[in-house]
Amino acid sequence: MTIQRKTRISRKRAKPRAYKTPRCDFATPTGRHLCRKPQKVTWSEALPKPGEIRFLTGPLAGQVGTVVSEVRGMCASHAKAESARLWSLLVRTGRCDLADWHRSLGVKCGGPICGCHGFGKGAYPSVRYELWNGFSGCSGINAWTEDHTLEWDDYLRATWGPLYEERRQLALAVRKYDLGEVIATLSTQLSDVKQKEAA
Ligand SMILES: [Zn+2]
Ligand SMILES: [Zn+2]
Repeated sequence: MTIQRKTRISRKRAKPRAYKTPRCDFATPTGRHLCRKPQKVTWSEALPKPGEIRFLTGPLAGQVGTVVSEVRGMCASHAKAESARLWSLLVRTGRCDLADWHRSLGVKCGGPICGCHGFGKGAYPSVRYELWNGFSGCSGINAWTEDHTLEWDDYLRATWGPLYEERRQLALAVRKYDLGEVIATLSTQLSDVKQKEAA
């Protein structure tokens, strides 16, 4: 005996899937690529200029109100990428701030400017998103310091002075970042910087 289906299996979902829990806020600038994973990291984001707005969607649609903050969220991998992006934006100054130091060692500048970690992000994740642990440097010196750990440590000691020891202890301590907190703090700092630049 053969069993036959009476209804055809449709190839495509007729309606977009209705999710019961909020999805990751990640979107490419064009909005073309969205992430459909559930939110694992959430934070509340203050809007730059709170004011009276008319709600277009949601339960308050059509009403006029004041928005001071909104809850945002991302999946774990996009939250990590967003934290790294914000940290790098705050750390980079547009030039290699390490040039004077590394030229004195006979190393030339090379490559684009990136955010360089003082204590490495892989080995010391507990200070990975600290702004004091970031330097604006060329990618050439970033790669060079990975091998020349003693020279780099000398530079950190000379630059941080009496703060070096305390920071070293923070790097060695075990701590897990709350990425929502990291994103909220760094994005607030970034909008402060942008406001100062605009003024
Ligand atoms: Zn995502
Ligand atoms: Zn350089």
